[in-house]
Amino acid sequence: MRRSRSMAGPEIAHIQESLDVDRRTSADSEGTDSSVSASVDQLGHGHFFVKKSFHKPSYCHHCADMIWSLIGVPGYVCEVCNFVAHDKCMKNVVSPCSSLAAALIKNPVPHCWSDFIHVKRKFCNVCRKRLDDMWCFRCEICDYYVHSECQEFAASNCRECATYTPGKDPSQIIQYHHWTEGNLLNNAKCALCRKSCWSSECLTGYRCAWCTTTAHAACHKNLPQECDFGPLKKIMLPPSVVTIPRTELPMETIVGVLSYKKARDRDIREKEQKEKDPKEKERGEATLLSPRAAISDDLSSSTGNLNGKDSSGESSSSKERKRRKERDREERESEKKERDSQKEERRSKDEDEPDSDAELVKVFDGNSSMRRKVFRTITINRNAPTKEVVEAALRSFYIKDDPSNYYLTEANEAEERTLDPSTPIRSLVKEDTQEKSALFLRYRDKDPNKGFIKVYPGNLKSSQGYKSIPVTSDTTVDDVLEYALRKFGLGTTTKSKYNLIEVTMDNRVTERILTHAEKPWRIMQQIRKESIHQMLKTRFYLQEKEDPHGSSIALFIGNLPQSLSQRQYHGILQTFVGDSNPFVSIGPIYYEYGSVVITYDNNEAAVKAFNSLKGALFEEKNLLVMLLPNIQAQLLDHRDLTPLLVFVNAKSGGCQGQDLIAAFRKLLNPYQVFDVSNGGPLPGLYVFRNIPKYRILICGGDGTVGWVLQCLDNVGQDSVCQTPPCGVVPLGTGNDLARVLRWGTGYTGDEEPMSILKDVIEADEIRLDRWTVVFHPDEKPEGEVKAVAACQVMSNSAAEDNSSMFVMNNYFGIGLDADLALDFHNAREENPEKFSSRLHNKRIYVKMGLRKMVKSRSAKSGSRDLQKEIELEVDGKLIELPPVEGIIILNILSWGAGCNPWGPERDDVFGKPTHWDGMLEVVGVTGVVHLGQMQSGLRSGIRIAQGGHIRIKMKGELPVHVDGEPWNQGSGQVTVLRSALRATMLKKTKIKRRNTMEPRQAAFEAERSSS
Ligand SMILES: [Zn+2]
Ligand SMILES: [Zn+2]
Ligand SMILES: [Zn+2]
Ligand SMILES: [Zn+2]
Ligand SMILES: [Zn+2]
Ligand SMILES: [Zn+2]
Repeated sequence: MRRSRSMAGPEIAHIQESLDVDRRTSADSEGTDSSVSASVDQLGHGHFFVKKSFHKPSYCHHCADMIWSLIGVPGYVCEVCNFVAHDKCMKNVVSPCSSLAAALIKNPVPHCWSDFIHVKRKFCNVCRKRLDDMWCFRCEICDYYVHSECQEFAASNCRECATYTPGKDPSQIIQYHHWTEGNLLNNAKCALCRKSCWSSECLTGYRCAWCTTTAHAACHKNLPQECDFGPLKKIMLPPSVVTIPRTELPMETIVGVLSYKKARDRDIREKEQKEKDPKEKERGEATLLSPRAAISDDLSSSTGNLNGKDSSGESSSSKERKRRKERDREERESEKKERDSQKEERRSKDEDEPDSDAELVKVFDGNSSMRRKVFRTITINRNAPTKEVVEAALRSFYIKDDPSNYYLTEANEAEERTLDPSTPIRSLVKEDTQEKSALFLRYRDKDPNKGFIKVYPGNLKSSQGYKSIPVTSDTTVDDVLEYALRKFGLGTTTKSKYNLIEVTMDNRVTERILTHAEKPWRIMQQIRKESIHQMLKTRFYLQEKEDPHGSSIALFIGNLPQSLSQRQYHGILQTFVGDSNPFVSIGPIYYEYGSVVITYDNNEAAVKAFNSLKGALFEEKNLLVMLLPNIQAQLLDHRDLTPLLVFVNAKSGGCQGQDLIAAFRKLLNPYQVFDVSNGGPLPGLYVFRNIPKYRILICGGDGTVGWVLQCLDNVGQDSVCQTPPCGVVPLGTGNDLARVLRWGTGYTGDEEPMSILKDVIEADEIRLDRWTVVFHPDEKPEGEVKAVAACQVMSNSAAEDNSSMFVMNNYFGIGLDADLALDFHNAREENPEKFSSRLHNKRIYVKMGLRKMVKSRSAKSGSRDLQKEIELEVDGKLIELPPVEGIIILNILSWGAGCNPWGPERDDVFGKPTHWDGMLEVVGVTGVVHLGQMQSGLRSGIRIAQGGHIRIKMKGELPVHVDGEPWNQGSGQVTVLRSALRATMLKKTKIKRRNTMEPRQAAFEAERSSS
């Protein structure tokens, strides 16, 4: 008790006072609920503990052990937040009550909510109950979970990912753990006592959202407070070097979270809704329309009814589905048991409290709640006095305050009628109508003309708590500013540098700068009328006017036409943002990509521009606009850090891309993770442009890797680090480059994202030759080349003549191999949904090969004698070609999803090929059968030549492909020459850290094998 007080600072002490009052009053009114034996002292962090004999196995949220209620050992439960504890643990409880969580926050940081999701075996961080089968939200940054109806009671205590403060001595910057409670991985071990600290039965244990350290509730307070970012410290982008502009734009717009996640989850949800029977559907929709209607107050302890419904779970992959089915069955069984025990509980209750006396009452906490139809439902005994209803209502809104400060009015009447505190609620029940009683919970002003407001120090260099400032209804913001500055010891002469802002810790944390003439006490009274719960989440901050982000706010704009002039880009953007809101600078301009960065010097103008550009149409394309964070790269200089820039193609590999991006956002700083399917690689490269040393991780197919490398080629000269080494997490099919670099054949979801990041830390740097493929057509091109130019992998440099140029990283093919790739490509274009799974892709590829074979056998015209149609010159020497149907020119020794056409054998004629020797290898394929044999590893290709400069004369139209992107190329000359562009890649080291598995990883694997 003593410890918790000193730890929590003045807030706790203050609230504790009001709790003492609360306890006295509530102690008198106990006794209506038979399961509640006695009111006990409130201990720990604001819980309202009552003694309870549990009729089903229950677990202590403090220590995660079972409470032996069944053999007569009572436990305690918090009436407000359902925290359950042993008698022996009561004195040591450190987890704050949900009614207190908001008050404990010093700097509110909003969570970054997912869309509605279904999860299993997770617990709500607000009401601490199971989330199973209820719609819920998850924070994409810190893994905080809430029921949809609990969301508005969530504490805005997300990870702070951009904390740069100008002028702060870098050596003084201390990073603290960011603890989130519960929902730990299976087998999580406590960092202090080394014992298991997770539970599948309740919300227990703590995990640091930065370093992933896990610990018991009691133990985590005894660990050192400082966080070193754990195993990922080398590649973590420290929040102390990042700033984001202070704007009302939600964090998602800056991190770029959600667009696909939302779309995908919505798809799944719709599918599920369709699958459910109509009755279930109705219920699901009712919950959606008015999530709060589903609230069941704990007085009735019957959420089981709602939980009991059956539902399909969260995932879409078949493996997951199977696993889910099993889990569902288990779940249903356990739920049945739970229901049974609850029935029993109710029955035992019924004996001395007949059901007919229980009344369901809707409570609104203000006018705005009434308008929005947001209410809480409480179950109360009809004979209970109004006072008791007030207490129940306060609990249902997670309000911890003296009930005598509140009163009830009737909401259904045209005129609000205050209820007499001594009258039982029974008087409200209209026997003749079916209508449910509805009440307003109102705050009673002790003195409507004066009171206290709390002013918190916002981003001030001092680390003080809030100050209570006496105000009257005439006190202005100006007066408060003066008073607060004096109280914080800042001197009133600096008043012009500060603002008083009103902060509301809603779903999003919203800020509003108050004008000097506004009257804070009146503001508070107004909010109180609208919603009491919102009033408790509103506070005032003394904030320096100067934004730590500085006066350069960058907006990235994409989807503009390519290759315009600077003047043209300027003109287009100026039209969109309007003459009244000009940007201060434009550039860099990425002409090849139709992308531009513009900057503003103040936040308001930037937000205005953001809103006018967002979704704007130009030449039938929606503009893409992103607000970019800033990195203070100078602070990274004297630290041994190599921050990782992560690019994920969320559209690659089915759901894998989306799962990976979510995982990396949680493991790293979300500002270092970018979705290339939403904005491409340029925004990330721009944000990292001043960092002297960093690495890149590209999650996607070979095409994505090529895309990122190509962007690096284009922005290299503008960046301090010109060739950051790139690692690859292969998604989807192909992935020949990833194979060569040992990153595997394709991410399956089996490997834990944490271990991927560790591999990146340990990976070796290796050079990758890059090649330029130039096509000079004989005559005018017939449109095919143009069609290809749109392809993201290749840049079609608009040359004076008709030649086109591509960068090649992997291989270049002419003839048969390209033909097959083209068939495949066309089929995929027509029917993209058929090509989502890797295995399926391979099957189709093989099928097409067979079809080709049949075709070429039946009609000889299908096959080609390529040696007659092309002339090959390597390093100036004409090469005599054997009879072949296709040739493949290789930079890396992997082609066609993992086979080696060159073959492993040593050879007297040719040197050992590598991808950094400045040489290409040329192999021939005799026909479809040969190609098939190569793909199944039975044969290699025919070795034809090796060299650094290749020229091919094509006499007629032939299918070609560069890095697997195929098209038909008209006759002409092709030159392949070494590009000046180099890439440094990361090659995964061979040694596997099996024996030194981290507890987290071990836990993950254990979970995997058990399911
Ligand atoms: Zn315990
Ligand atoms: Zn509590
Ligand atoms: Zn909840
Ligand atoms: Zn969060
Ligand atoms: Zn930590
Ligand atoms: Zn422990």
